[in-house]
Amino acid sequence: STFSELGLNEPIIKALTDLGYESPTVIQEKAIPQIISSKSDLKAFAQTGTGKTAAFSLPILQLIDGDSSNVQAIILSPTRELAVQIGKNIEDFCKYQKKIQVTTVYGGSSMEQQIKSLKRGSQIVVGTPGRTVDLINRRALKLGNVQWLVLDEADEMLNMGFKEELDKVLEATPDTKQTLLFSATFPKEVEAIARNYMHKPVEVTS
Ligand code: AMP
Repeated sequence: STFSELGLNEPIIKALTDLGYESPTVIQEKAIPQIISSKSDLKAFAQTGTGKTAAFSLPILQLIDGDSSNVQAIILSPTRELAVQIGKNIEDFCKYQKKIQVTTVYGGSSMEQQIKSLKRGSQIVVGTPGRTVDLINRRALKLGNVQWLVLDEADEMLNMGFKEELDKVLEATPDTKQTLLFSATFPKEVEAIARNYMHKPVEVTS
C-alpha cells in the first residue's frame, strides 16, 4: 500500500517523499490507520529498525491541532540518544506543517533551555522519563491537554528502572488520552503497565 492509502495528508506525504520513504513498513501499515481512525489504546510489538517512530508519529502529526500551543502529545523514550533521534525524525516529518513545534527534554543538559522551549509552546514533547518527571514537578511541563501518550521501548524503560516515572506520567495525563505502547518484548512488567493503565488495547505486530 501507499502512505496516502493509510489516510495521511499531503504535507506529511510530501515530507516522506523528501526523506525517500517510498512505501510503508509492516508496522506502519498496521498502526497508522488504526491510530487515525480510532481512539483505542494500542499495544505494538516492534523492534527498532521496523519503522516504529513513523508508525506513531505520523498519525499524531495528522491529528494534532497546530492552532493550539498546548502539549497534545508526549513521547517517552529510554535514552537521550533515542529521544533526540525521535525529535529529529518528527521535525523532518512535520517540515510542511509550519505550526507544529517539538521540544525534546532529557537529563545531562541545561534545564533552562528546555524550559524556555516549553514556554514558547510545543504541541509535541519527546522526553526521557527522569527529566520529564522533573519538569512536571517544576510545573514547567503541563500535561492536562495530552491526547496521545507514547511509551517507546517500554521494556527498555522498565529494565532501566523507570517504573515510578512511567506511573507518574501515566497519572499526570488525562484518562481520555490514547496510550500507544511500543515494545520489543512483553515481560510481566510491561503487561502490568498495559493492564493497569490501558483500556482494551488493540494489538499490532511488526
Ligand atoms: P525506526 O524503527 O523508527 O528507528 O526506523 C528505522 C529506520 O528506517 C530509520 O532510519 C527510518 O528513517 C527508516 N524508515 C522508517 N520507515 C521507513 C519507510 N517507510 N521507508 C524507508 N525508510 C524508513
